[in-house]
Amino acid sequence: MKNLSLASLLFLVATLSCAQTPQEPKAFHYSTIDALLAGAYEGELTVDELKLKGDFGIGTFNRVDGEMIVLDGEVFQFKADGTVVKASGTQLTPFAVVTRFNTDYRYEVSKETSMKELEDMLDQHLENKNLFYAIRVEGDFKQLTTRAIAPQDKPYKPLAEVTKTQTLFNFTNTKGVLVAFRSPGFAKGFNVPGYHWHYLSNDHKAGGHVLALNLSQGVIKVGAVSDIEIKLPANKLFATSNQTVDRAKELKAVEGLRKD
Ligand SMILES: [Zn+2]
Repeated sequence: MKNLSLASLLFLVATLSCAQTPQEPKAFHYSTIDALLAGAYEGELTVDELKLKGDFGIGTFNRVDGEMIVLDGEVFQFKADGTVVKASGTQLTPFAVVTRFNTDYRYEVSKETSMKELEDMLDQHLENKNLFYAIRVEGDFKQLTTRAIAPQDKPYKPLAEVTKTQTLFNFTNTKGVLVAFRSPGFAKGFNVPGYHWHYLSNDHKAGGHVLALNLSQGVIKVGAVSDIEIKLPANKLFATSNQTVDRAKELKAVEGLRKD
C-alpha cells in the first residue's frame, strides 16, 4: 500500500460546484446492518417500492442472494455464480440504502489508485464527516476484487459465518461504476460506518461487493445527504434478532478481506 502524500493528491482535481439543490437530498435505509449481521435475511420491501425511494444505492436480496446495485433507477443483482441480472419488481430485500443521486463534488483521478487511497483522498476532501455521502465512481479499473454470497437457507447463520463461504471474483481491465456510501461513525448499528462499495461493469458482466480495487482513471461524483429515512421490517426474524450487542468486529470481518 502506497502512502498518501501531497504529491499523490496533485492528480486529484477537485471541483466544488455550489450545492444548490432544490430539495434536501435524502437517503432511505431499509432495516439495519446489525439485523443483517444477526441473520435477519428476510424483508417485506419490494424492489419496486425501493425504486420509489431512490435511483442509486446498494443492498442485498432476501436470503442474502447476491449483491444489489441500484444505478440510474435500475436495480441489478450480482449473484454468487458471477452473473448479473436485472431484479424483478417483486423481489424482496432484507437490507438496502438508496438515495436520489445528486452531484455536489466532482473529482478526477488519472493515476492508479487503490481503494485505501481513494478513501483517504475522499476523507481529506469531505469537510463534514458527520454527513452521509453517496459516491459514484465512473472509471477504468485495472483490477477489482468483489464478493457475492449464495442464497441461504433457514435457520440462518450470522453473516460473519456465512461470508466464510462467499465467492470471490477477480476482474481485470473492467470499465464500470462504483456505487458507494460513506456513513458517519454514529451510523454504527444501522449502517456501515465508513465506506461501503459495490460495483457494476458497463457491460453488466462484472459486479459485487468490492473488497479491493485499482482504479486507472475515472471521475468521482459525491453527493452529501443530511436527511435520513429508516424503515424497519415487520417480521419475526427482525423482531427477534439480537441488536443489543456490539457487532463492530463481525462487521469488520464481513466487510473486510481487503487486499490493498
Ligand atoms: Zn456490500
